[in-house]
Amino acid sequence: MKIFRLFAFSFLFLIPVTIFAQFTIDDRAILFSNVNVVPMTEQTVMTGMDVLVEGDRISAIGQTGELSVPTGASVIDAEGKYLMPGLAEMHGHVPPMESGNWPERYLEDVLYLYLAGGITTVRGMLGHPNQLELREQVNNNYIPGPTLYLAGPSFSGQSINSPEEARERVHEQFEAGWDLLKVHPGLTLEEYTAMAEAANEIGMEFSGHVPADVGLENAVLLGQRTVDHLDGFIEYIGAMEEPVTDEQLEKAVTLAVENDVWSVPTQALWKTLLGAADHDKLKEYDEIRYMPQQVIDGWFNYLNNQQNTFFYRGEYAEVHQENRQKLLKALQDGGAKILMGTDAPQIFSVPGLSIKRELAIMEQAGLTPYEILKSGSYNVGKYYQDIDTFGTITENSRADFILINENPLENLSTIDNHAGVMVRGIWISREDIDKKLNEIEEAYRN
Ligand SMILES: [Zn+2]
Repeated sequence: MKIFRLFAFSFLFLIPVTIFAQFTIDDRAILFSNVNVVPMTEQTVMTGMDVLVEGDRISAIGQTGELSVPTGASVIDAEGKYLMPGLAEMHGHVPPMESGNWPERYLEDVLYLYLAGGITTVRGMLGHPNQLELREQVNNNYIPGPTLYLAGPSFSGQSINSPEEARERVHEQFEAGWDLLKVHPGLTLEEYTAMAEAANEIGMEFSGHVPADVGLENAVLLGQRTVDHLDGFIEYIGAMEEPVTDEQLEKAVTLAVENDVWSVPTQALWKTLLGAADHDKLKEYDEIRYMPQQVIDGWFNYLNNQQNTFFYRGEYAEVHQENRQKLLKALQDGGAKILMGTDAPQIFSVPGLSIKRELAIMEQAGLTPYEILKSGSYNVGKYYQDIDTFGTITENSRADFILINENPLENLSTIDNHAGVMVRGIWISREDIDKKLNEIEEAYRN
């Protein structure tokens, strides 16, 4: 069985991957036997299947007992269980390595927590120094973690001061090897346009926030690929304080669909930021025990001072939140493209484990379990189709799975209580995950 090449690893000694000795990898095939497959290519469950994994790929799928299985393959008896694609965190963060604000182990733990929650792909939305090396180490199995696609350091009012600088920065980040450009507030329209044109010329993605001076319409017309958090849409249709109308929803959906723009709603996080979440419930989230005390203290402090924060909406929080939920439902029903994201590890969004909060709130908005899971699997595969094949259980797809005890299309909450996760062909059993979660909890709670 394939294993991670190196488990214990100190980031103090982060150095290029090429000088590490290759750890021996046992490349035996893995067979998931007699499993119900939720392929996510359509709304269906294929019962009594065998799924064969070789290397990091699904090499064959067939009725139980009908595949020719290489000798020595290890078999995971999955009778009665369900196999669905691993999910993606499309607006995630990988903490900086040299921050000094957190315990040294925090970065490794964040990467592991993503896997523990069934997140096998993360689009990291803010680049920090040395993360390109980290990406190679994770994606090549030197460090356990989800497959990383990373944005470079952000384009913001602070970091960019002229159109020329914007253009230069695009080329710098492209040559350095970042996967996309991160847009933050504060860019002028001229700077944004220069960035967009330079990026479009070389085929580089730019995504994230919508700067106020640019506005949603310009951003979308200039080719911004994802609009994250939906707040740009809410401002565009003016649904900040009054219940949203059908005409306003229609306007948002039309813009999204006609320009083929993707949305990453991050509904659970935004409910908290607006001030519409119940603080007592947040504080009782069972998953926060896997965060360092400094991080939890920061979150609790945030709640205490929330009235002074940028996104807080006070008396309008509830109606604003309702509008966001209606917008998500309208975008889904209108055929706009949705990607799952929770903005972990933002406040009360624990990497990986936060996905259960997002699944629940998307369901409250009226999306079906299939639509919700699609936003974190099939849609993500579409999004990255030029780079790799994943997000579905189909032959030749990257072997990223969650093994589940019940049918996730009928019950989303069963995903949290999964029976194991596979990432790039590496199997991590529930037992291993629980052991590691206990270790993380002990490290931070003592
Ligand atoms: Zn973010």
